Amino acid sequence: MTPEEFRIAGHQLIDWIADYRAGIPDRPVQSAVKPGDVAGALPSTPPSEPEELAALLRDLDEIIVPGLMQVQHPRHTGWFPSNATLASVLGDITSSGIGALGISWQSAPALTELEEVVCEWMRQLTGLSEGWHGAIQDTASTGCLVAMLAARERAADYVSERGGLQSLPAPLTVYTSEHAHSAVPKAALLAGFGRSNIRTLSTDPVTHALDPAALRAAIEKDVNEGRVPAAIVVSIGTTATTAVDPLAEILEIAAGYGIWVHVDAAMAGSALLLPEYRWLVEGIEGFTTPDGVRVPPADSLGWNPHKWMGTILDTSLLYVREPERLIRVMSTNPSFLRNAVSDARTATEYRDWGIPLGRRFRALKLWFHLRLDGVEAIRERLRRDLANAQRLARLVAAEPDWNVVAPVALQTVCIRHEPPGLTGEALDAHTLAWADALNHSGVGTVTPAVVQGRWLVRISIGVESTEWPDVEAVWSAAKDLAAREANERRPE
Ligand SMILES: *Cc1c(COP(=O)(O)O)cnc(C)c1O
Repeated sequence: MTPEEFRIAGHQLIDWIADYRAGIPDRPVQSAVKPGDVAGALPSTPPSEPEELAALLRDLDEIIVPGLMQVQHPRHTGWFPSNATLASVLGDITSSGIGALGISWQSAPALTELEEVVCEWMRQLTGLSEGWHGAIQDTASTGCLVAMLAARERAADYVSERGGLQSLPAPLTVYTSEHAHSAVPKAALLAGFGRSNIRTLSTDPVTHALDPAALRAAIEKDVNEGRVPAAIVVSIGTTATTAVDPLAEILEIAAGYGIWVHVDAAMAGSALLLPEYRWLVEGIEGFTTPDGVRVPPADSLGWNPHKWMGTILDTSLLYVREPERLIRVMSTNPSFLRNAVSDARTATEYRDWGIPLGRRFRALKLWFHLRLDGVEAIRERLRRDLANAQRLARLVAAEPDWNVVAPVALQTVCIRHEPPGLTGEALDAHTLAWADALNHSGVGTVTPAVVQGRWLVRISIGVESTEWPDVEAVWSAAKDLAAREANERRPE
C-alpha cells in the first residue's frame, strides 16, 4: 500500500470508525454470538489475492462488530470502564502511522522524551511529589510483575546476580488482601515467590479493605519462622467493591521491615486527577508518626489511564521512587544497542524499566488525549460518574428488598435484591439469575462478584458516554428482571 492508497483507504476507515462509534447506543451491549460463531463465519484459509477495503469493512460490520461486547456502550456497567476516547484513538493511530521503534533512546529520542514528559504531566496532575518517576507499561498486570521483580531482588540483595532464588536459604514472602486483583497473585507467582509464600489476608467485613492487624500478624509470624517479607501489594480500589486499603497504616507496618510497598490503583488512579480524592493514597509520600518514627514513602504505584480516564489500551502508568532498582534487575546492554548516549548514561533507556525491548510510541495516546480533550473536561466527566454512582446508591437503598452491600467509595455500586425468604444458596442463585438475564437482554451489562462468600452485582459506572438516564435504564431493567426471577422462584 502506498501513502496515496493509504490516504484513500484511511479516510474510508476513519469514516467507518466514526459511524461505528455513533451507532453504539443502538446496539445490544452484550454480543449474542456463541463460541465458534465468529471463526465459523470466516474463511478457513487465507486470501491469496489482495482484496478491496470495502470487503473488509463489510466483514467488520457483519461479523466482527456483532461479535463484540460493546464496552464503549453508554449502558455498559460491567467490569470496570475501559474507555477509549477518540482523542486518544487519534494518538494510537499516529503511533501506528509513524511506526517508530523504541529500543533505546537513540532509536527514537522523541519517543523516550515524550514518554518522560507525559509521565511527568500525569505526576503533576495526580498530585504526586517530584520524587516519583514514571514509565508507560502495557498493563497494570505487567506493572505489578515489574514491581514484584524489583521487590524480590531488593529483599534478596540482588541474588539473581549470583545463584538466584534457588540459592536463598529462606523463602521470601508477599502480602496482599483477599480482594486484590487476580493480577497480584499472578505477578507474585511469575516472580517466583511460590504459592505457599503469598499471603492473601483477611479484610474488614464492612469496608472490605485489608485489615492492618492481619497484615502485622502475618509478617510477624513469617519473620519468627525465619522467612523474609519482601513485598506488600496495597489495593486502592479493589476489583469487587473498589475498597481502599489503609495505605498509611500499611506503610507504617512495612517500614519496620524494609518491605517493598506496591500500590495497585489500576482503576482508582483516575480519581487522583481530582484533588478531593487524593485521600485515596494518603501517606504515599511517607510521613513521621506522632512518636517520631520516620515512615518512608511507598516504592511503586501503578494505575491505568486505559480504564476510567479513557486513554485507550494499552496505557498503564508505573511510577517508582528509585528507577535504579528496576534498572539493576532488568537492564541489558547488548553490543547492537550500544552507542555514545547509552555508554554515557545521559538519557533514559526505558527498556531497562520493564520487560519488553521494543516499545510502541504509547505516549502519543496520552499526549493527544490530554491536549485534545483537556484535563478539566476529563475531571468533569469523572465527577459526573461519581455523582451518578451516589445517586444510584440512594435509589437502590430506598427501594424495598434492595440493598447497597458495600461502601460506594468511587463509581461502582454493589447491590443485591434480597426478597424476603431468600437466603444462602437460593439467594446466590437468584442474584446470578437476574444478572444473567440483564446481560442477555442486551439492555445493559453488570458483573456479579463474590464478597464475604455471597454473590453481589456490581454496577460500575464510568463509560465516557454514560449519562444519568443510561444508569437509570440499567437500574430499571435490573428491577424488572429481578422481580420476574423472584416470581418464578417463589414456591407454588
Ligand atoms: C484492572 C485491574 C488490574 C489489571 O489491569 P490490566 O491493565 O488489565 O492488567 C489490576 N488491578 C486492579 C485493581 C484492577 O482494577
